[in-house]
Amino acid sequence: MSDLPRIASMLTSFIEHPGRISLGIYLPGCNWRCLYCHNYELVLDVVGEEVCEDELRWELENNRLIDLVVISGGEPTIHGEKLLNLVKLVRDLRPDLKIRIDTNGSNPGVLSRIKNLIDGVALDIKAPPDDVEKYSMIIGARFDRGRFMKSVAIARDLPLTIYRTVRYPCLSEEDLDRIRRFVEENCGGKPHYFTEFNPVRMPRGWRRDLSKLGDSRGAHSVL
Ligand code: SF4
Repeated sequence: MSDLPRIASMLTSFIEHPGRISLGIYLPGCNWRCLYCHNYELVLDVVGEEVCEDELRWELENNRLIDLVVISGGEPTIHGEKLLNLVKLVRDLRPDLKIRIDTNGSNPGVLSRIKNLIDGVALDIKAPPDDVEKYSMIIGARFDRGRFMKSVAIARDLPLTIYRTVRYPCLSEEDLDRIRRFVEENCGGKPHYFTEFNPVRMPRGWRRDLSKLGDSRGAHSVL
């Protein structure tokens, strides 16, 4: 058995990536606490479910619908070496599949270690990256622009990379234009998608517990 991250859920999806049928593998935990997070139960790891390694292996070996594996969360890169083990396992079992990692861009070191084993990244751009204050306000942590830019540089060289931005109400039209310009100038011509904002009721204390995670996960609480 491999030393894998805990897998909270797994799902075959027709909508995760344009033109592809994917197996989504969802890992718990995140080093940020965005204003709104549709996966907060996964981030807080309170879903209470787990996919065991045998189940994962069976799915990979038998699911012939899929042509892509999307490893998402939460923030998959917080799992470091275990994420690398998971990517290697997918590669070993199904060399025919593409692999995409979803990330907030806070851990370029981990991306750098796995970049030769994956085909793309879905990188979230939550605010104009040169507006560190607004970015930090949205993510509930200190935004490290230097680390983010390193992640952008890794992501843009991978063929299946896409960028995503949620239209938070706190983003002005000028902010959205600055994000568009950032993508044009830094993201290697890869697709960038805006998604509509849908409010969710966040659990109490959602943005207060981040400091408990410590710096080892790249978390720097500003609250
Ligand atoms: S980066 Fe933000 S939106 Fe994404 S999983 Fe973490 S808290 Fe949720």
